Amino acid sequence: MFSPDIITKFQQHETPFYYYDLDLLQRTLKACTNAADNYGYHVHYALKANFNPKVLQTVQAAGLGADCVSGNEVLAAIEHGFDRNKVVFAGVGKSDKEINAALDADIFCFNVESVQEMEVINDLAAAKGKTARVAIRINPNVDAHTHHNITTGLEENKFGINTWQLDDVVFTLGNCKNLEFLGVHFHVGSQITNLDVFEKLCVRVNELHEWFEAKGLFIKVLNVGGGLGVDYYNPDKDPICDFAGYFKIFKDHLVVKEGQEVHFELGRALVAQSASLISRVLYVKNGQKKNFLILDAGMTELIRPMLYEAYHHIQNLTKGDNDATVIYDVVGPICESTDRFRTDVALPRSHRGDLIAVRTAGAYGEVMASGYNLRDRVQSVYNDID
Ligand SMILES: *Cc1c(COP(=O)(O)O)cnc(C)c1O
Repeated sequence: MFSPDIITKFQQHETPFYYYDLDLLQRTLKACTNAADNYGYHVHYALKANFNPKVLQTVQAAGLGADCVSGNEVLAAIEHGFDRNKVVFAGVGKSDKEINAALDADIFCFNVESVQEMEVINDLAAAKGKTARVAIRINPNVDAHTHHNITTGLEENKFGINTWQLDDVVFTLGNCKNLEFLGVHFHVGSQITNLDVFEKLCVRVNELHEWFEAKGLFIKVLNVGGGLGVDYYNPDKDPICDFAGYFKIFKDHLVVKEGQEVHFELGRALVAQSASLISRVLYVKNGQKKNFLILDAGMTELIRPMLYEAYHHIQNLTKGDNDATVIYDVVGPICESTDRFRTDVALPRSHRGDLIAVRTAGAYGEVMASGYNLRDRVQSVYNDID
């Protein structure tokens, strides 16, 4: 929801830009940490969802840890003041350079995704005379029931170590003197709205937990990943996720023993509702089959609709809700047919210069912006916009 005052300020601003509501972000973070604190859970923020510096500052100030998927994310987390004891590093393709950077930074844990990677981290740690703490990312073969392009926990996905390889993991751990085994890690997908998925995950984690114990390996960290979804259809209805309900699923279904910690890695659920992409209508093309609204923002600013067929709520901020509606295909200016935010969108009859908001754009939005077509880098503005 935008106040008339904010819309007036938008009107004076060059478009396109991301508008961040840092107050909403702060309230979301607080709701999450309060709910997690009830059970002593540890929450890491997945930087890849949004590493805008002001977002990182706000997340860091709220006391969360950092979940990183590249060496540069590890460095960014530390630069922004995240406690290195709360920095974890996941990813299927960590380069030697990235591993070395994370070893130098003394991060809390590497979430390792293959036996070969365990051996490489062990060798690089040995060369530095260090011990690397590792958690084993296991592919639990649990279907996240989300879009197939953001499903990560099935055997056909590239992520994690499959369960039939775990004997090899235990054997390799025994040989790798510069690795310290911390525990297990899972992340089955993103934008998960069917919470049964998390219950199924708990059941698998409990089984694997027992398996490791039977091998004589003590699990200190149970990292169950992230993936909690948000409501893209009704961005103003409950802009803050039901974190209490989410954590309670783990409280009720995950077996946690004395001395064990439960870790989460949330990205989208923390940041998605706190930003909108604000753009202007450049041209209106009325056709016989289709009417097009051509915006000054496209896949170079927000690629989710084109990459994942993602739905974003689209609003005309200039026209009132009572104006007669027209059905438009809302498209961008980029020279690609897929550069389309959505087809058949009912909007008030729109004109050149109208402000259009693409909502729920705080996660996987600005961070995926590109310079394709030699476009200007998308700008960001915050609550203090003037
Ligand atoms: C992307 C990612 C996350 C965060 O996912 P969200 O759906 O944004 O919560 C957590 N853990 C890992 C390993 C990831 O790659």
